[in-house]
Amino acid sequence: MSTTFGELFGAAAVAVYAAPGRVNLIGEYTDLNDSFVLPFATAEVTTVEVRRRTDRIWKMASDGVGGGSVLTHDLDTDGLPPGWGAYPVAVARALENAGHRVGGLDLLVRSDVPTGAGLSSSAALECAVGLALCDQFGVDLQPMELAVLAREAENRYVGVPCGIMDQAASLCCEQGHAMLLDTRSLEIRQLPLALEGSGLALLLVDTRVKHALVSSAYANRRHAFAEAARRLGVRTLREAIEAGIGIDALAGDDELYRRARHVVSEHNRVLEAAQALASGDERALGALLSASHASLRDDLEVSCAELDLAVDAAMAAGALGARLTGAGFGGSAIALVEAGRAGEVAAAVADAFSSRRLTAPSLRRVAASSGARRVR
Ligand code: ADP
Ligand code: MG
Repeated sequence: MSTTFGELFGAAAVAVYAAPGRVNLIGEYTDLNDSFVLPFATAEVTTVEVRRRTDRIWKMASDGVGGGSVLTHDLDTDGLPPGWGAYPVAVARALENAGHRVGGLDLLVRSDVPTGAGLSSSAALECAVGLALCDQFGVDLQPMELAVLAREAENRYVGVPCGIMDQAASLCCEQGHAMLLDTRSLEIRQLPLALEGSGLALLLVDTRVKHALVSSAYANRRHAFAEAARRLGVRTLREAIEAGIGIDALAGDDELYRRARHVVSEHNRVLEAAQALASGDERALGALLSASHASLRDDLEVSCAELDLAVDAAMAAGALGARLTGAGFGGSAIALVEAGRAGEVAAAVADAFSSRRLTAPSLRRVAASSGARRVR
């Protein structure tokens, strides 16, 4: 959509805010167990151009969805607009529900964060809107406080039961760093992710597939984690890990045992990966990424043929490690490669897909970029 804000709304925007997508380096499904995750922000961002209104009406358009047509919503009516408009309005509702009064807005969304690719375009949209609302209506919140409300917007109003990782990453990540996030205490630690300096590159393979299974499987795994914790007599699997309670008591139920084993092993891998980054040993990430993928594939069973193919082809072409990232069942994989071999590995992955007559994946290098900010 090349339409400008002025053409849509009759006056120029007064401010522009940007919020990135995120790639989770490691720590998959751990946030559902109060444990650690290690995401970084993508260079791809969702921007919102805004102009405050004097009433309580929202007029919204997006260049990515709905052909740029303007949606109208009155903040004083119940309910949410249909489709994508639910996300921005949900953020306003979450803020107001927490006692932060906002108001009407003209809003134009532009984004280069692909939707449904495992990069969390939904959080990028929520966080860009959240930042705009705080700045425009004088709401004084720390980035992590806003992340909590943006998550609540998605959980409670949009109805997607995601963890805190995506919103926290979009708002709190820093350029050149991965962010170790304790999803229980919400403490963060910025760890240098300077791949280029180490002669490495991270390749993102967006398989462009999204299997219908993802939301039901997500709910099913959530349930399994809760059940495993219940049987171990703890509130969360994080508690079991820290109390030194092994998961042997679950051995009679093979599936439940493997679900819990993923959480325990992934918890340890995140902490090892953080240690590797803290000591500047990025190459050590390789084996951890591959072990994470094996666990997601075999113990948690959230991979799919396309993700396994991307990982296997990257490894066969000499990647140091690779894994699916995000909730699985499609979306993206990442591969850690020697920078000099990035082209070769990318070509091998593309070949593997084309020789199976699969839709060509989108392949690109990703680097740790800035968190959400006002850009104008
Ligand atoms: P993801 O993994 O990318 O977050 P989700 O299904 O959680 O996938 O969120 C995608 C949804 O978020 C889209 O279907 C749309 O409703 C909304 N969305 C994301 N980006 C945009 C955008 N630029 N404009 C409008 N809506 C968007
Ligand atoms: Mg999402």
